[in-house]
Amino acid sequence: MTAVALPATGLLRRVRTETAVPPRPEGDPGLVDRFGRRAVDLRVSLTERCNLRCTYCMPAEGLPVIPSDALMTAAEIERLVRLGAEHLGVRKVRFTGGEPLLRADLVDVIARCATLGVELSLTTNAIGLAGRAQALRDAGLVRVNVSLDTVDPDVFATVTRRPFLTRVLDGIAAADAAGLGVKVNAVLLRGVNDHLAVDLLAWCLERGHELRFIEQMPLDPGHAWDGTSMVTAAETRAALGEHYVLTPDQAPRDGAPAERFRVASRTTGAHLGTVGVIASVTESFCADCTRTRLTAEGHVRSCLFSDEESDLLGAMRAGASDEQVLDRWRRAMWAKPRDHGDDADGMVHPSRGMSAIGG
Ligand code: SAM
Ligand code: SF4
Repeated sequence: MTAVALPATGLLRRVRTETAVPPRPEGDPGLVDRFGRRAVDLRVSLTERCNLRCTYCMPAEGLPVIPSDALMTAAEIERLVRLGAEHLGVRKVRFTGGEPLLRADLVDVIARCATLGVELSLTTNAIGLAGRAQALRDAGLVRVNVSLDTVDPDVFATVTRRPFLTRVLDGIAAADAAGLGVKVNAVLLRGVNDHLAVDLLAWCLERGHELRFIEQMPLDPGHAWDGTSMVTAAETRAALGEHYVLTPDQAPRDGAPAERFRVASRTTGAHLGTVGVIASVTESFCADCTRTRLTAEGHVRSCLFSDEESDLLGAMRAGASDEQVLDRWRRAMWAKPRDHGDDADGMVHPSRGMSAIGG
């Protein structure tokens, strides 16, 4: 793990982590950590593979592929989600990757988990969603969060290094038609797609999809992030505010990373929808984090920015009982770092990239 110096914008928070982890007290059955946070949102990565090469996420040449027998099977995913839901207080599960639609058994994964009393959603680039949206909905999926950084085909090809915009748009339309809720996630990159932020918001508002802008984080495996291409949440709010009236949404955030705004027309004052801004870097929300993650190989990762992982799948395959798996998961979460920094005034740059962790 390496520390990355932040540019001197004056906007960036000082961040620190604790080093010594006190013993976990007996008794609390959930995924509480030593700073009192409780993880109730589970992100499950289904694969580290992807059919796009977004510049902020993956290198152009891709990453080494994990052998398929090292990935969690549908039955193993079901077991872990059941343990999380029944014993650890997990309420929501979001499947991600890599690109989760590359899993041939995705509908089976959803169907197995749909009986476990948790809300199921999917983070996806939507390539191939057109042919599977209805089956996923029928299996119990509630919502998709689709990554779409621009609706300009040339800029899309520059950001993702693939000319597949039409497939993504077809996937979004099919998800909508199937009755899946659709949210759109966008990462703005300075000088690449940031001038199109308003166009993307207009596109989403017209279709009733909530758009969330996410600050670019140092989660590219090439470690090229230095903060200069990141468009800050403050810059995004200012750019959108030139074209729309943004009013902070009063609903409690409840651990959600996005700061939400009601969007109204500057000319008529008509309410047009909502937009979210996720200031992961400049206004970090670590103190309210409610997330726990499983990598595609079944490792608990308590924080995107922590390289500490605990291998639940290996334990399960070695014959661990449910109680032993639960104990391992609880202990991993107890050690969750306070925030995503190090002892210096910098962001930690974890050794795995976003696609390998599960975004
Ligand atoms: N392939 C799916 C997709 O793109 O939605 C799921 C995995 S992707 C890693 C999950 C989310 O992480 C996407 O919304 C993507 O924009 C975001 N992401 C990836 N790298 C990022 C980075 N360096 N900074 C901020 N967000 C990032
Ligand atoms: Fe693939 Fe999603 Fe990463 Fe883009 S952000 S390269 S679609 S995993």
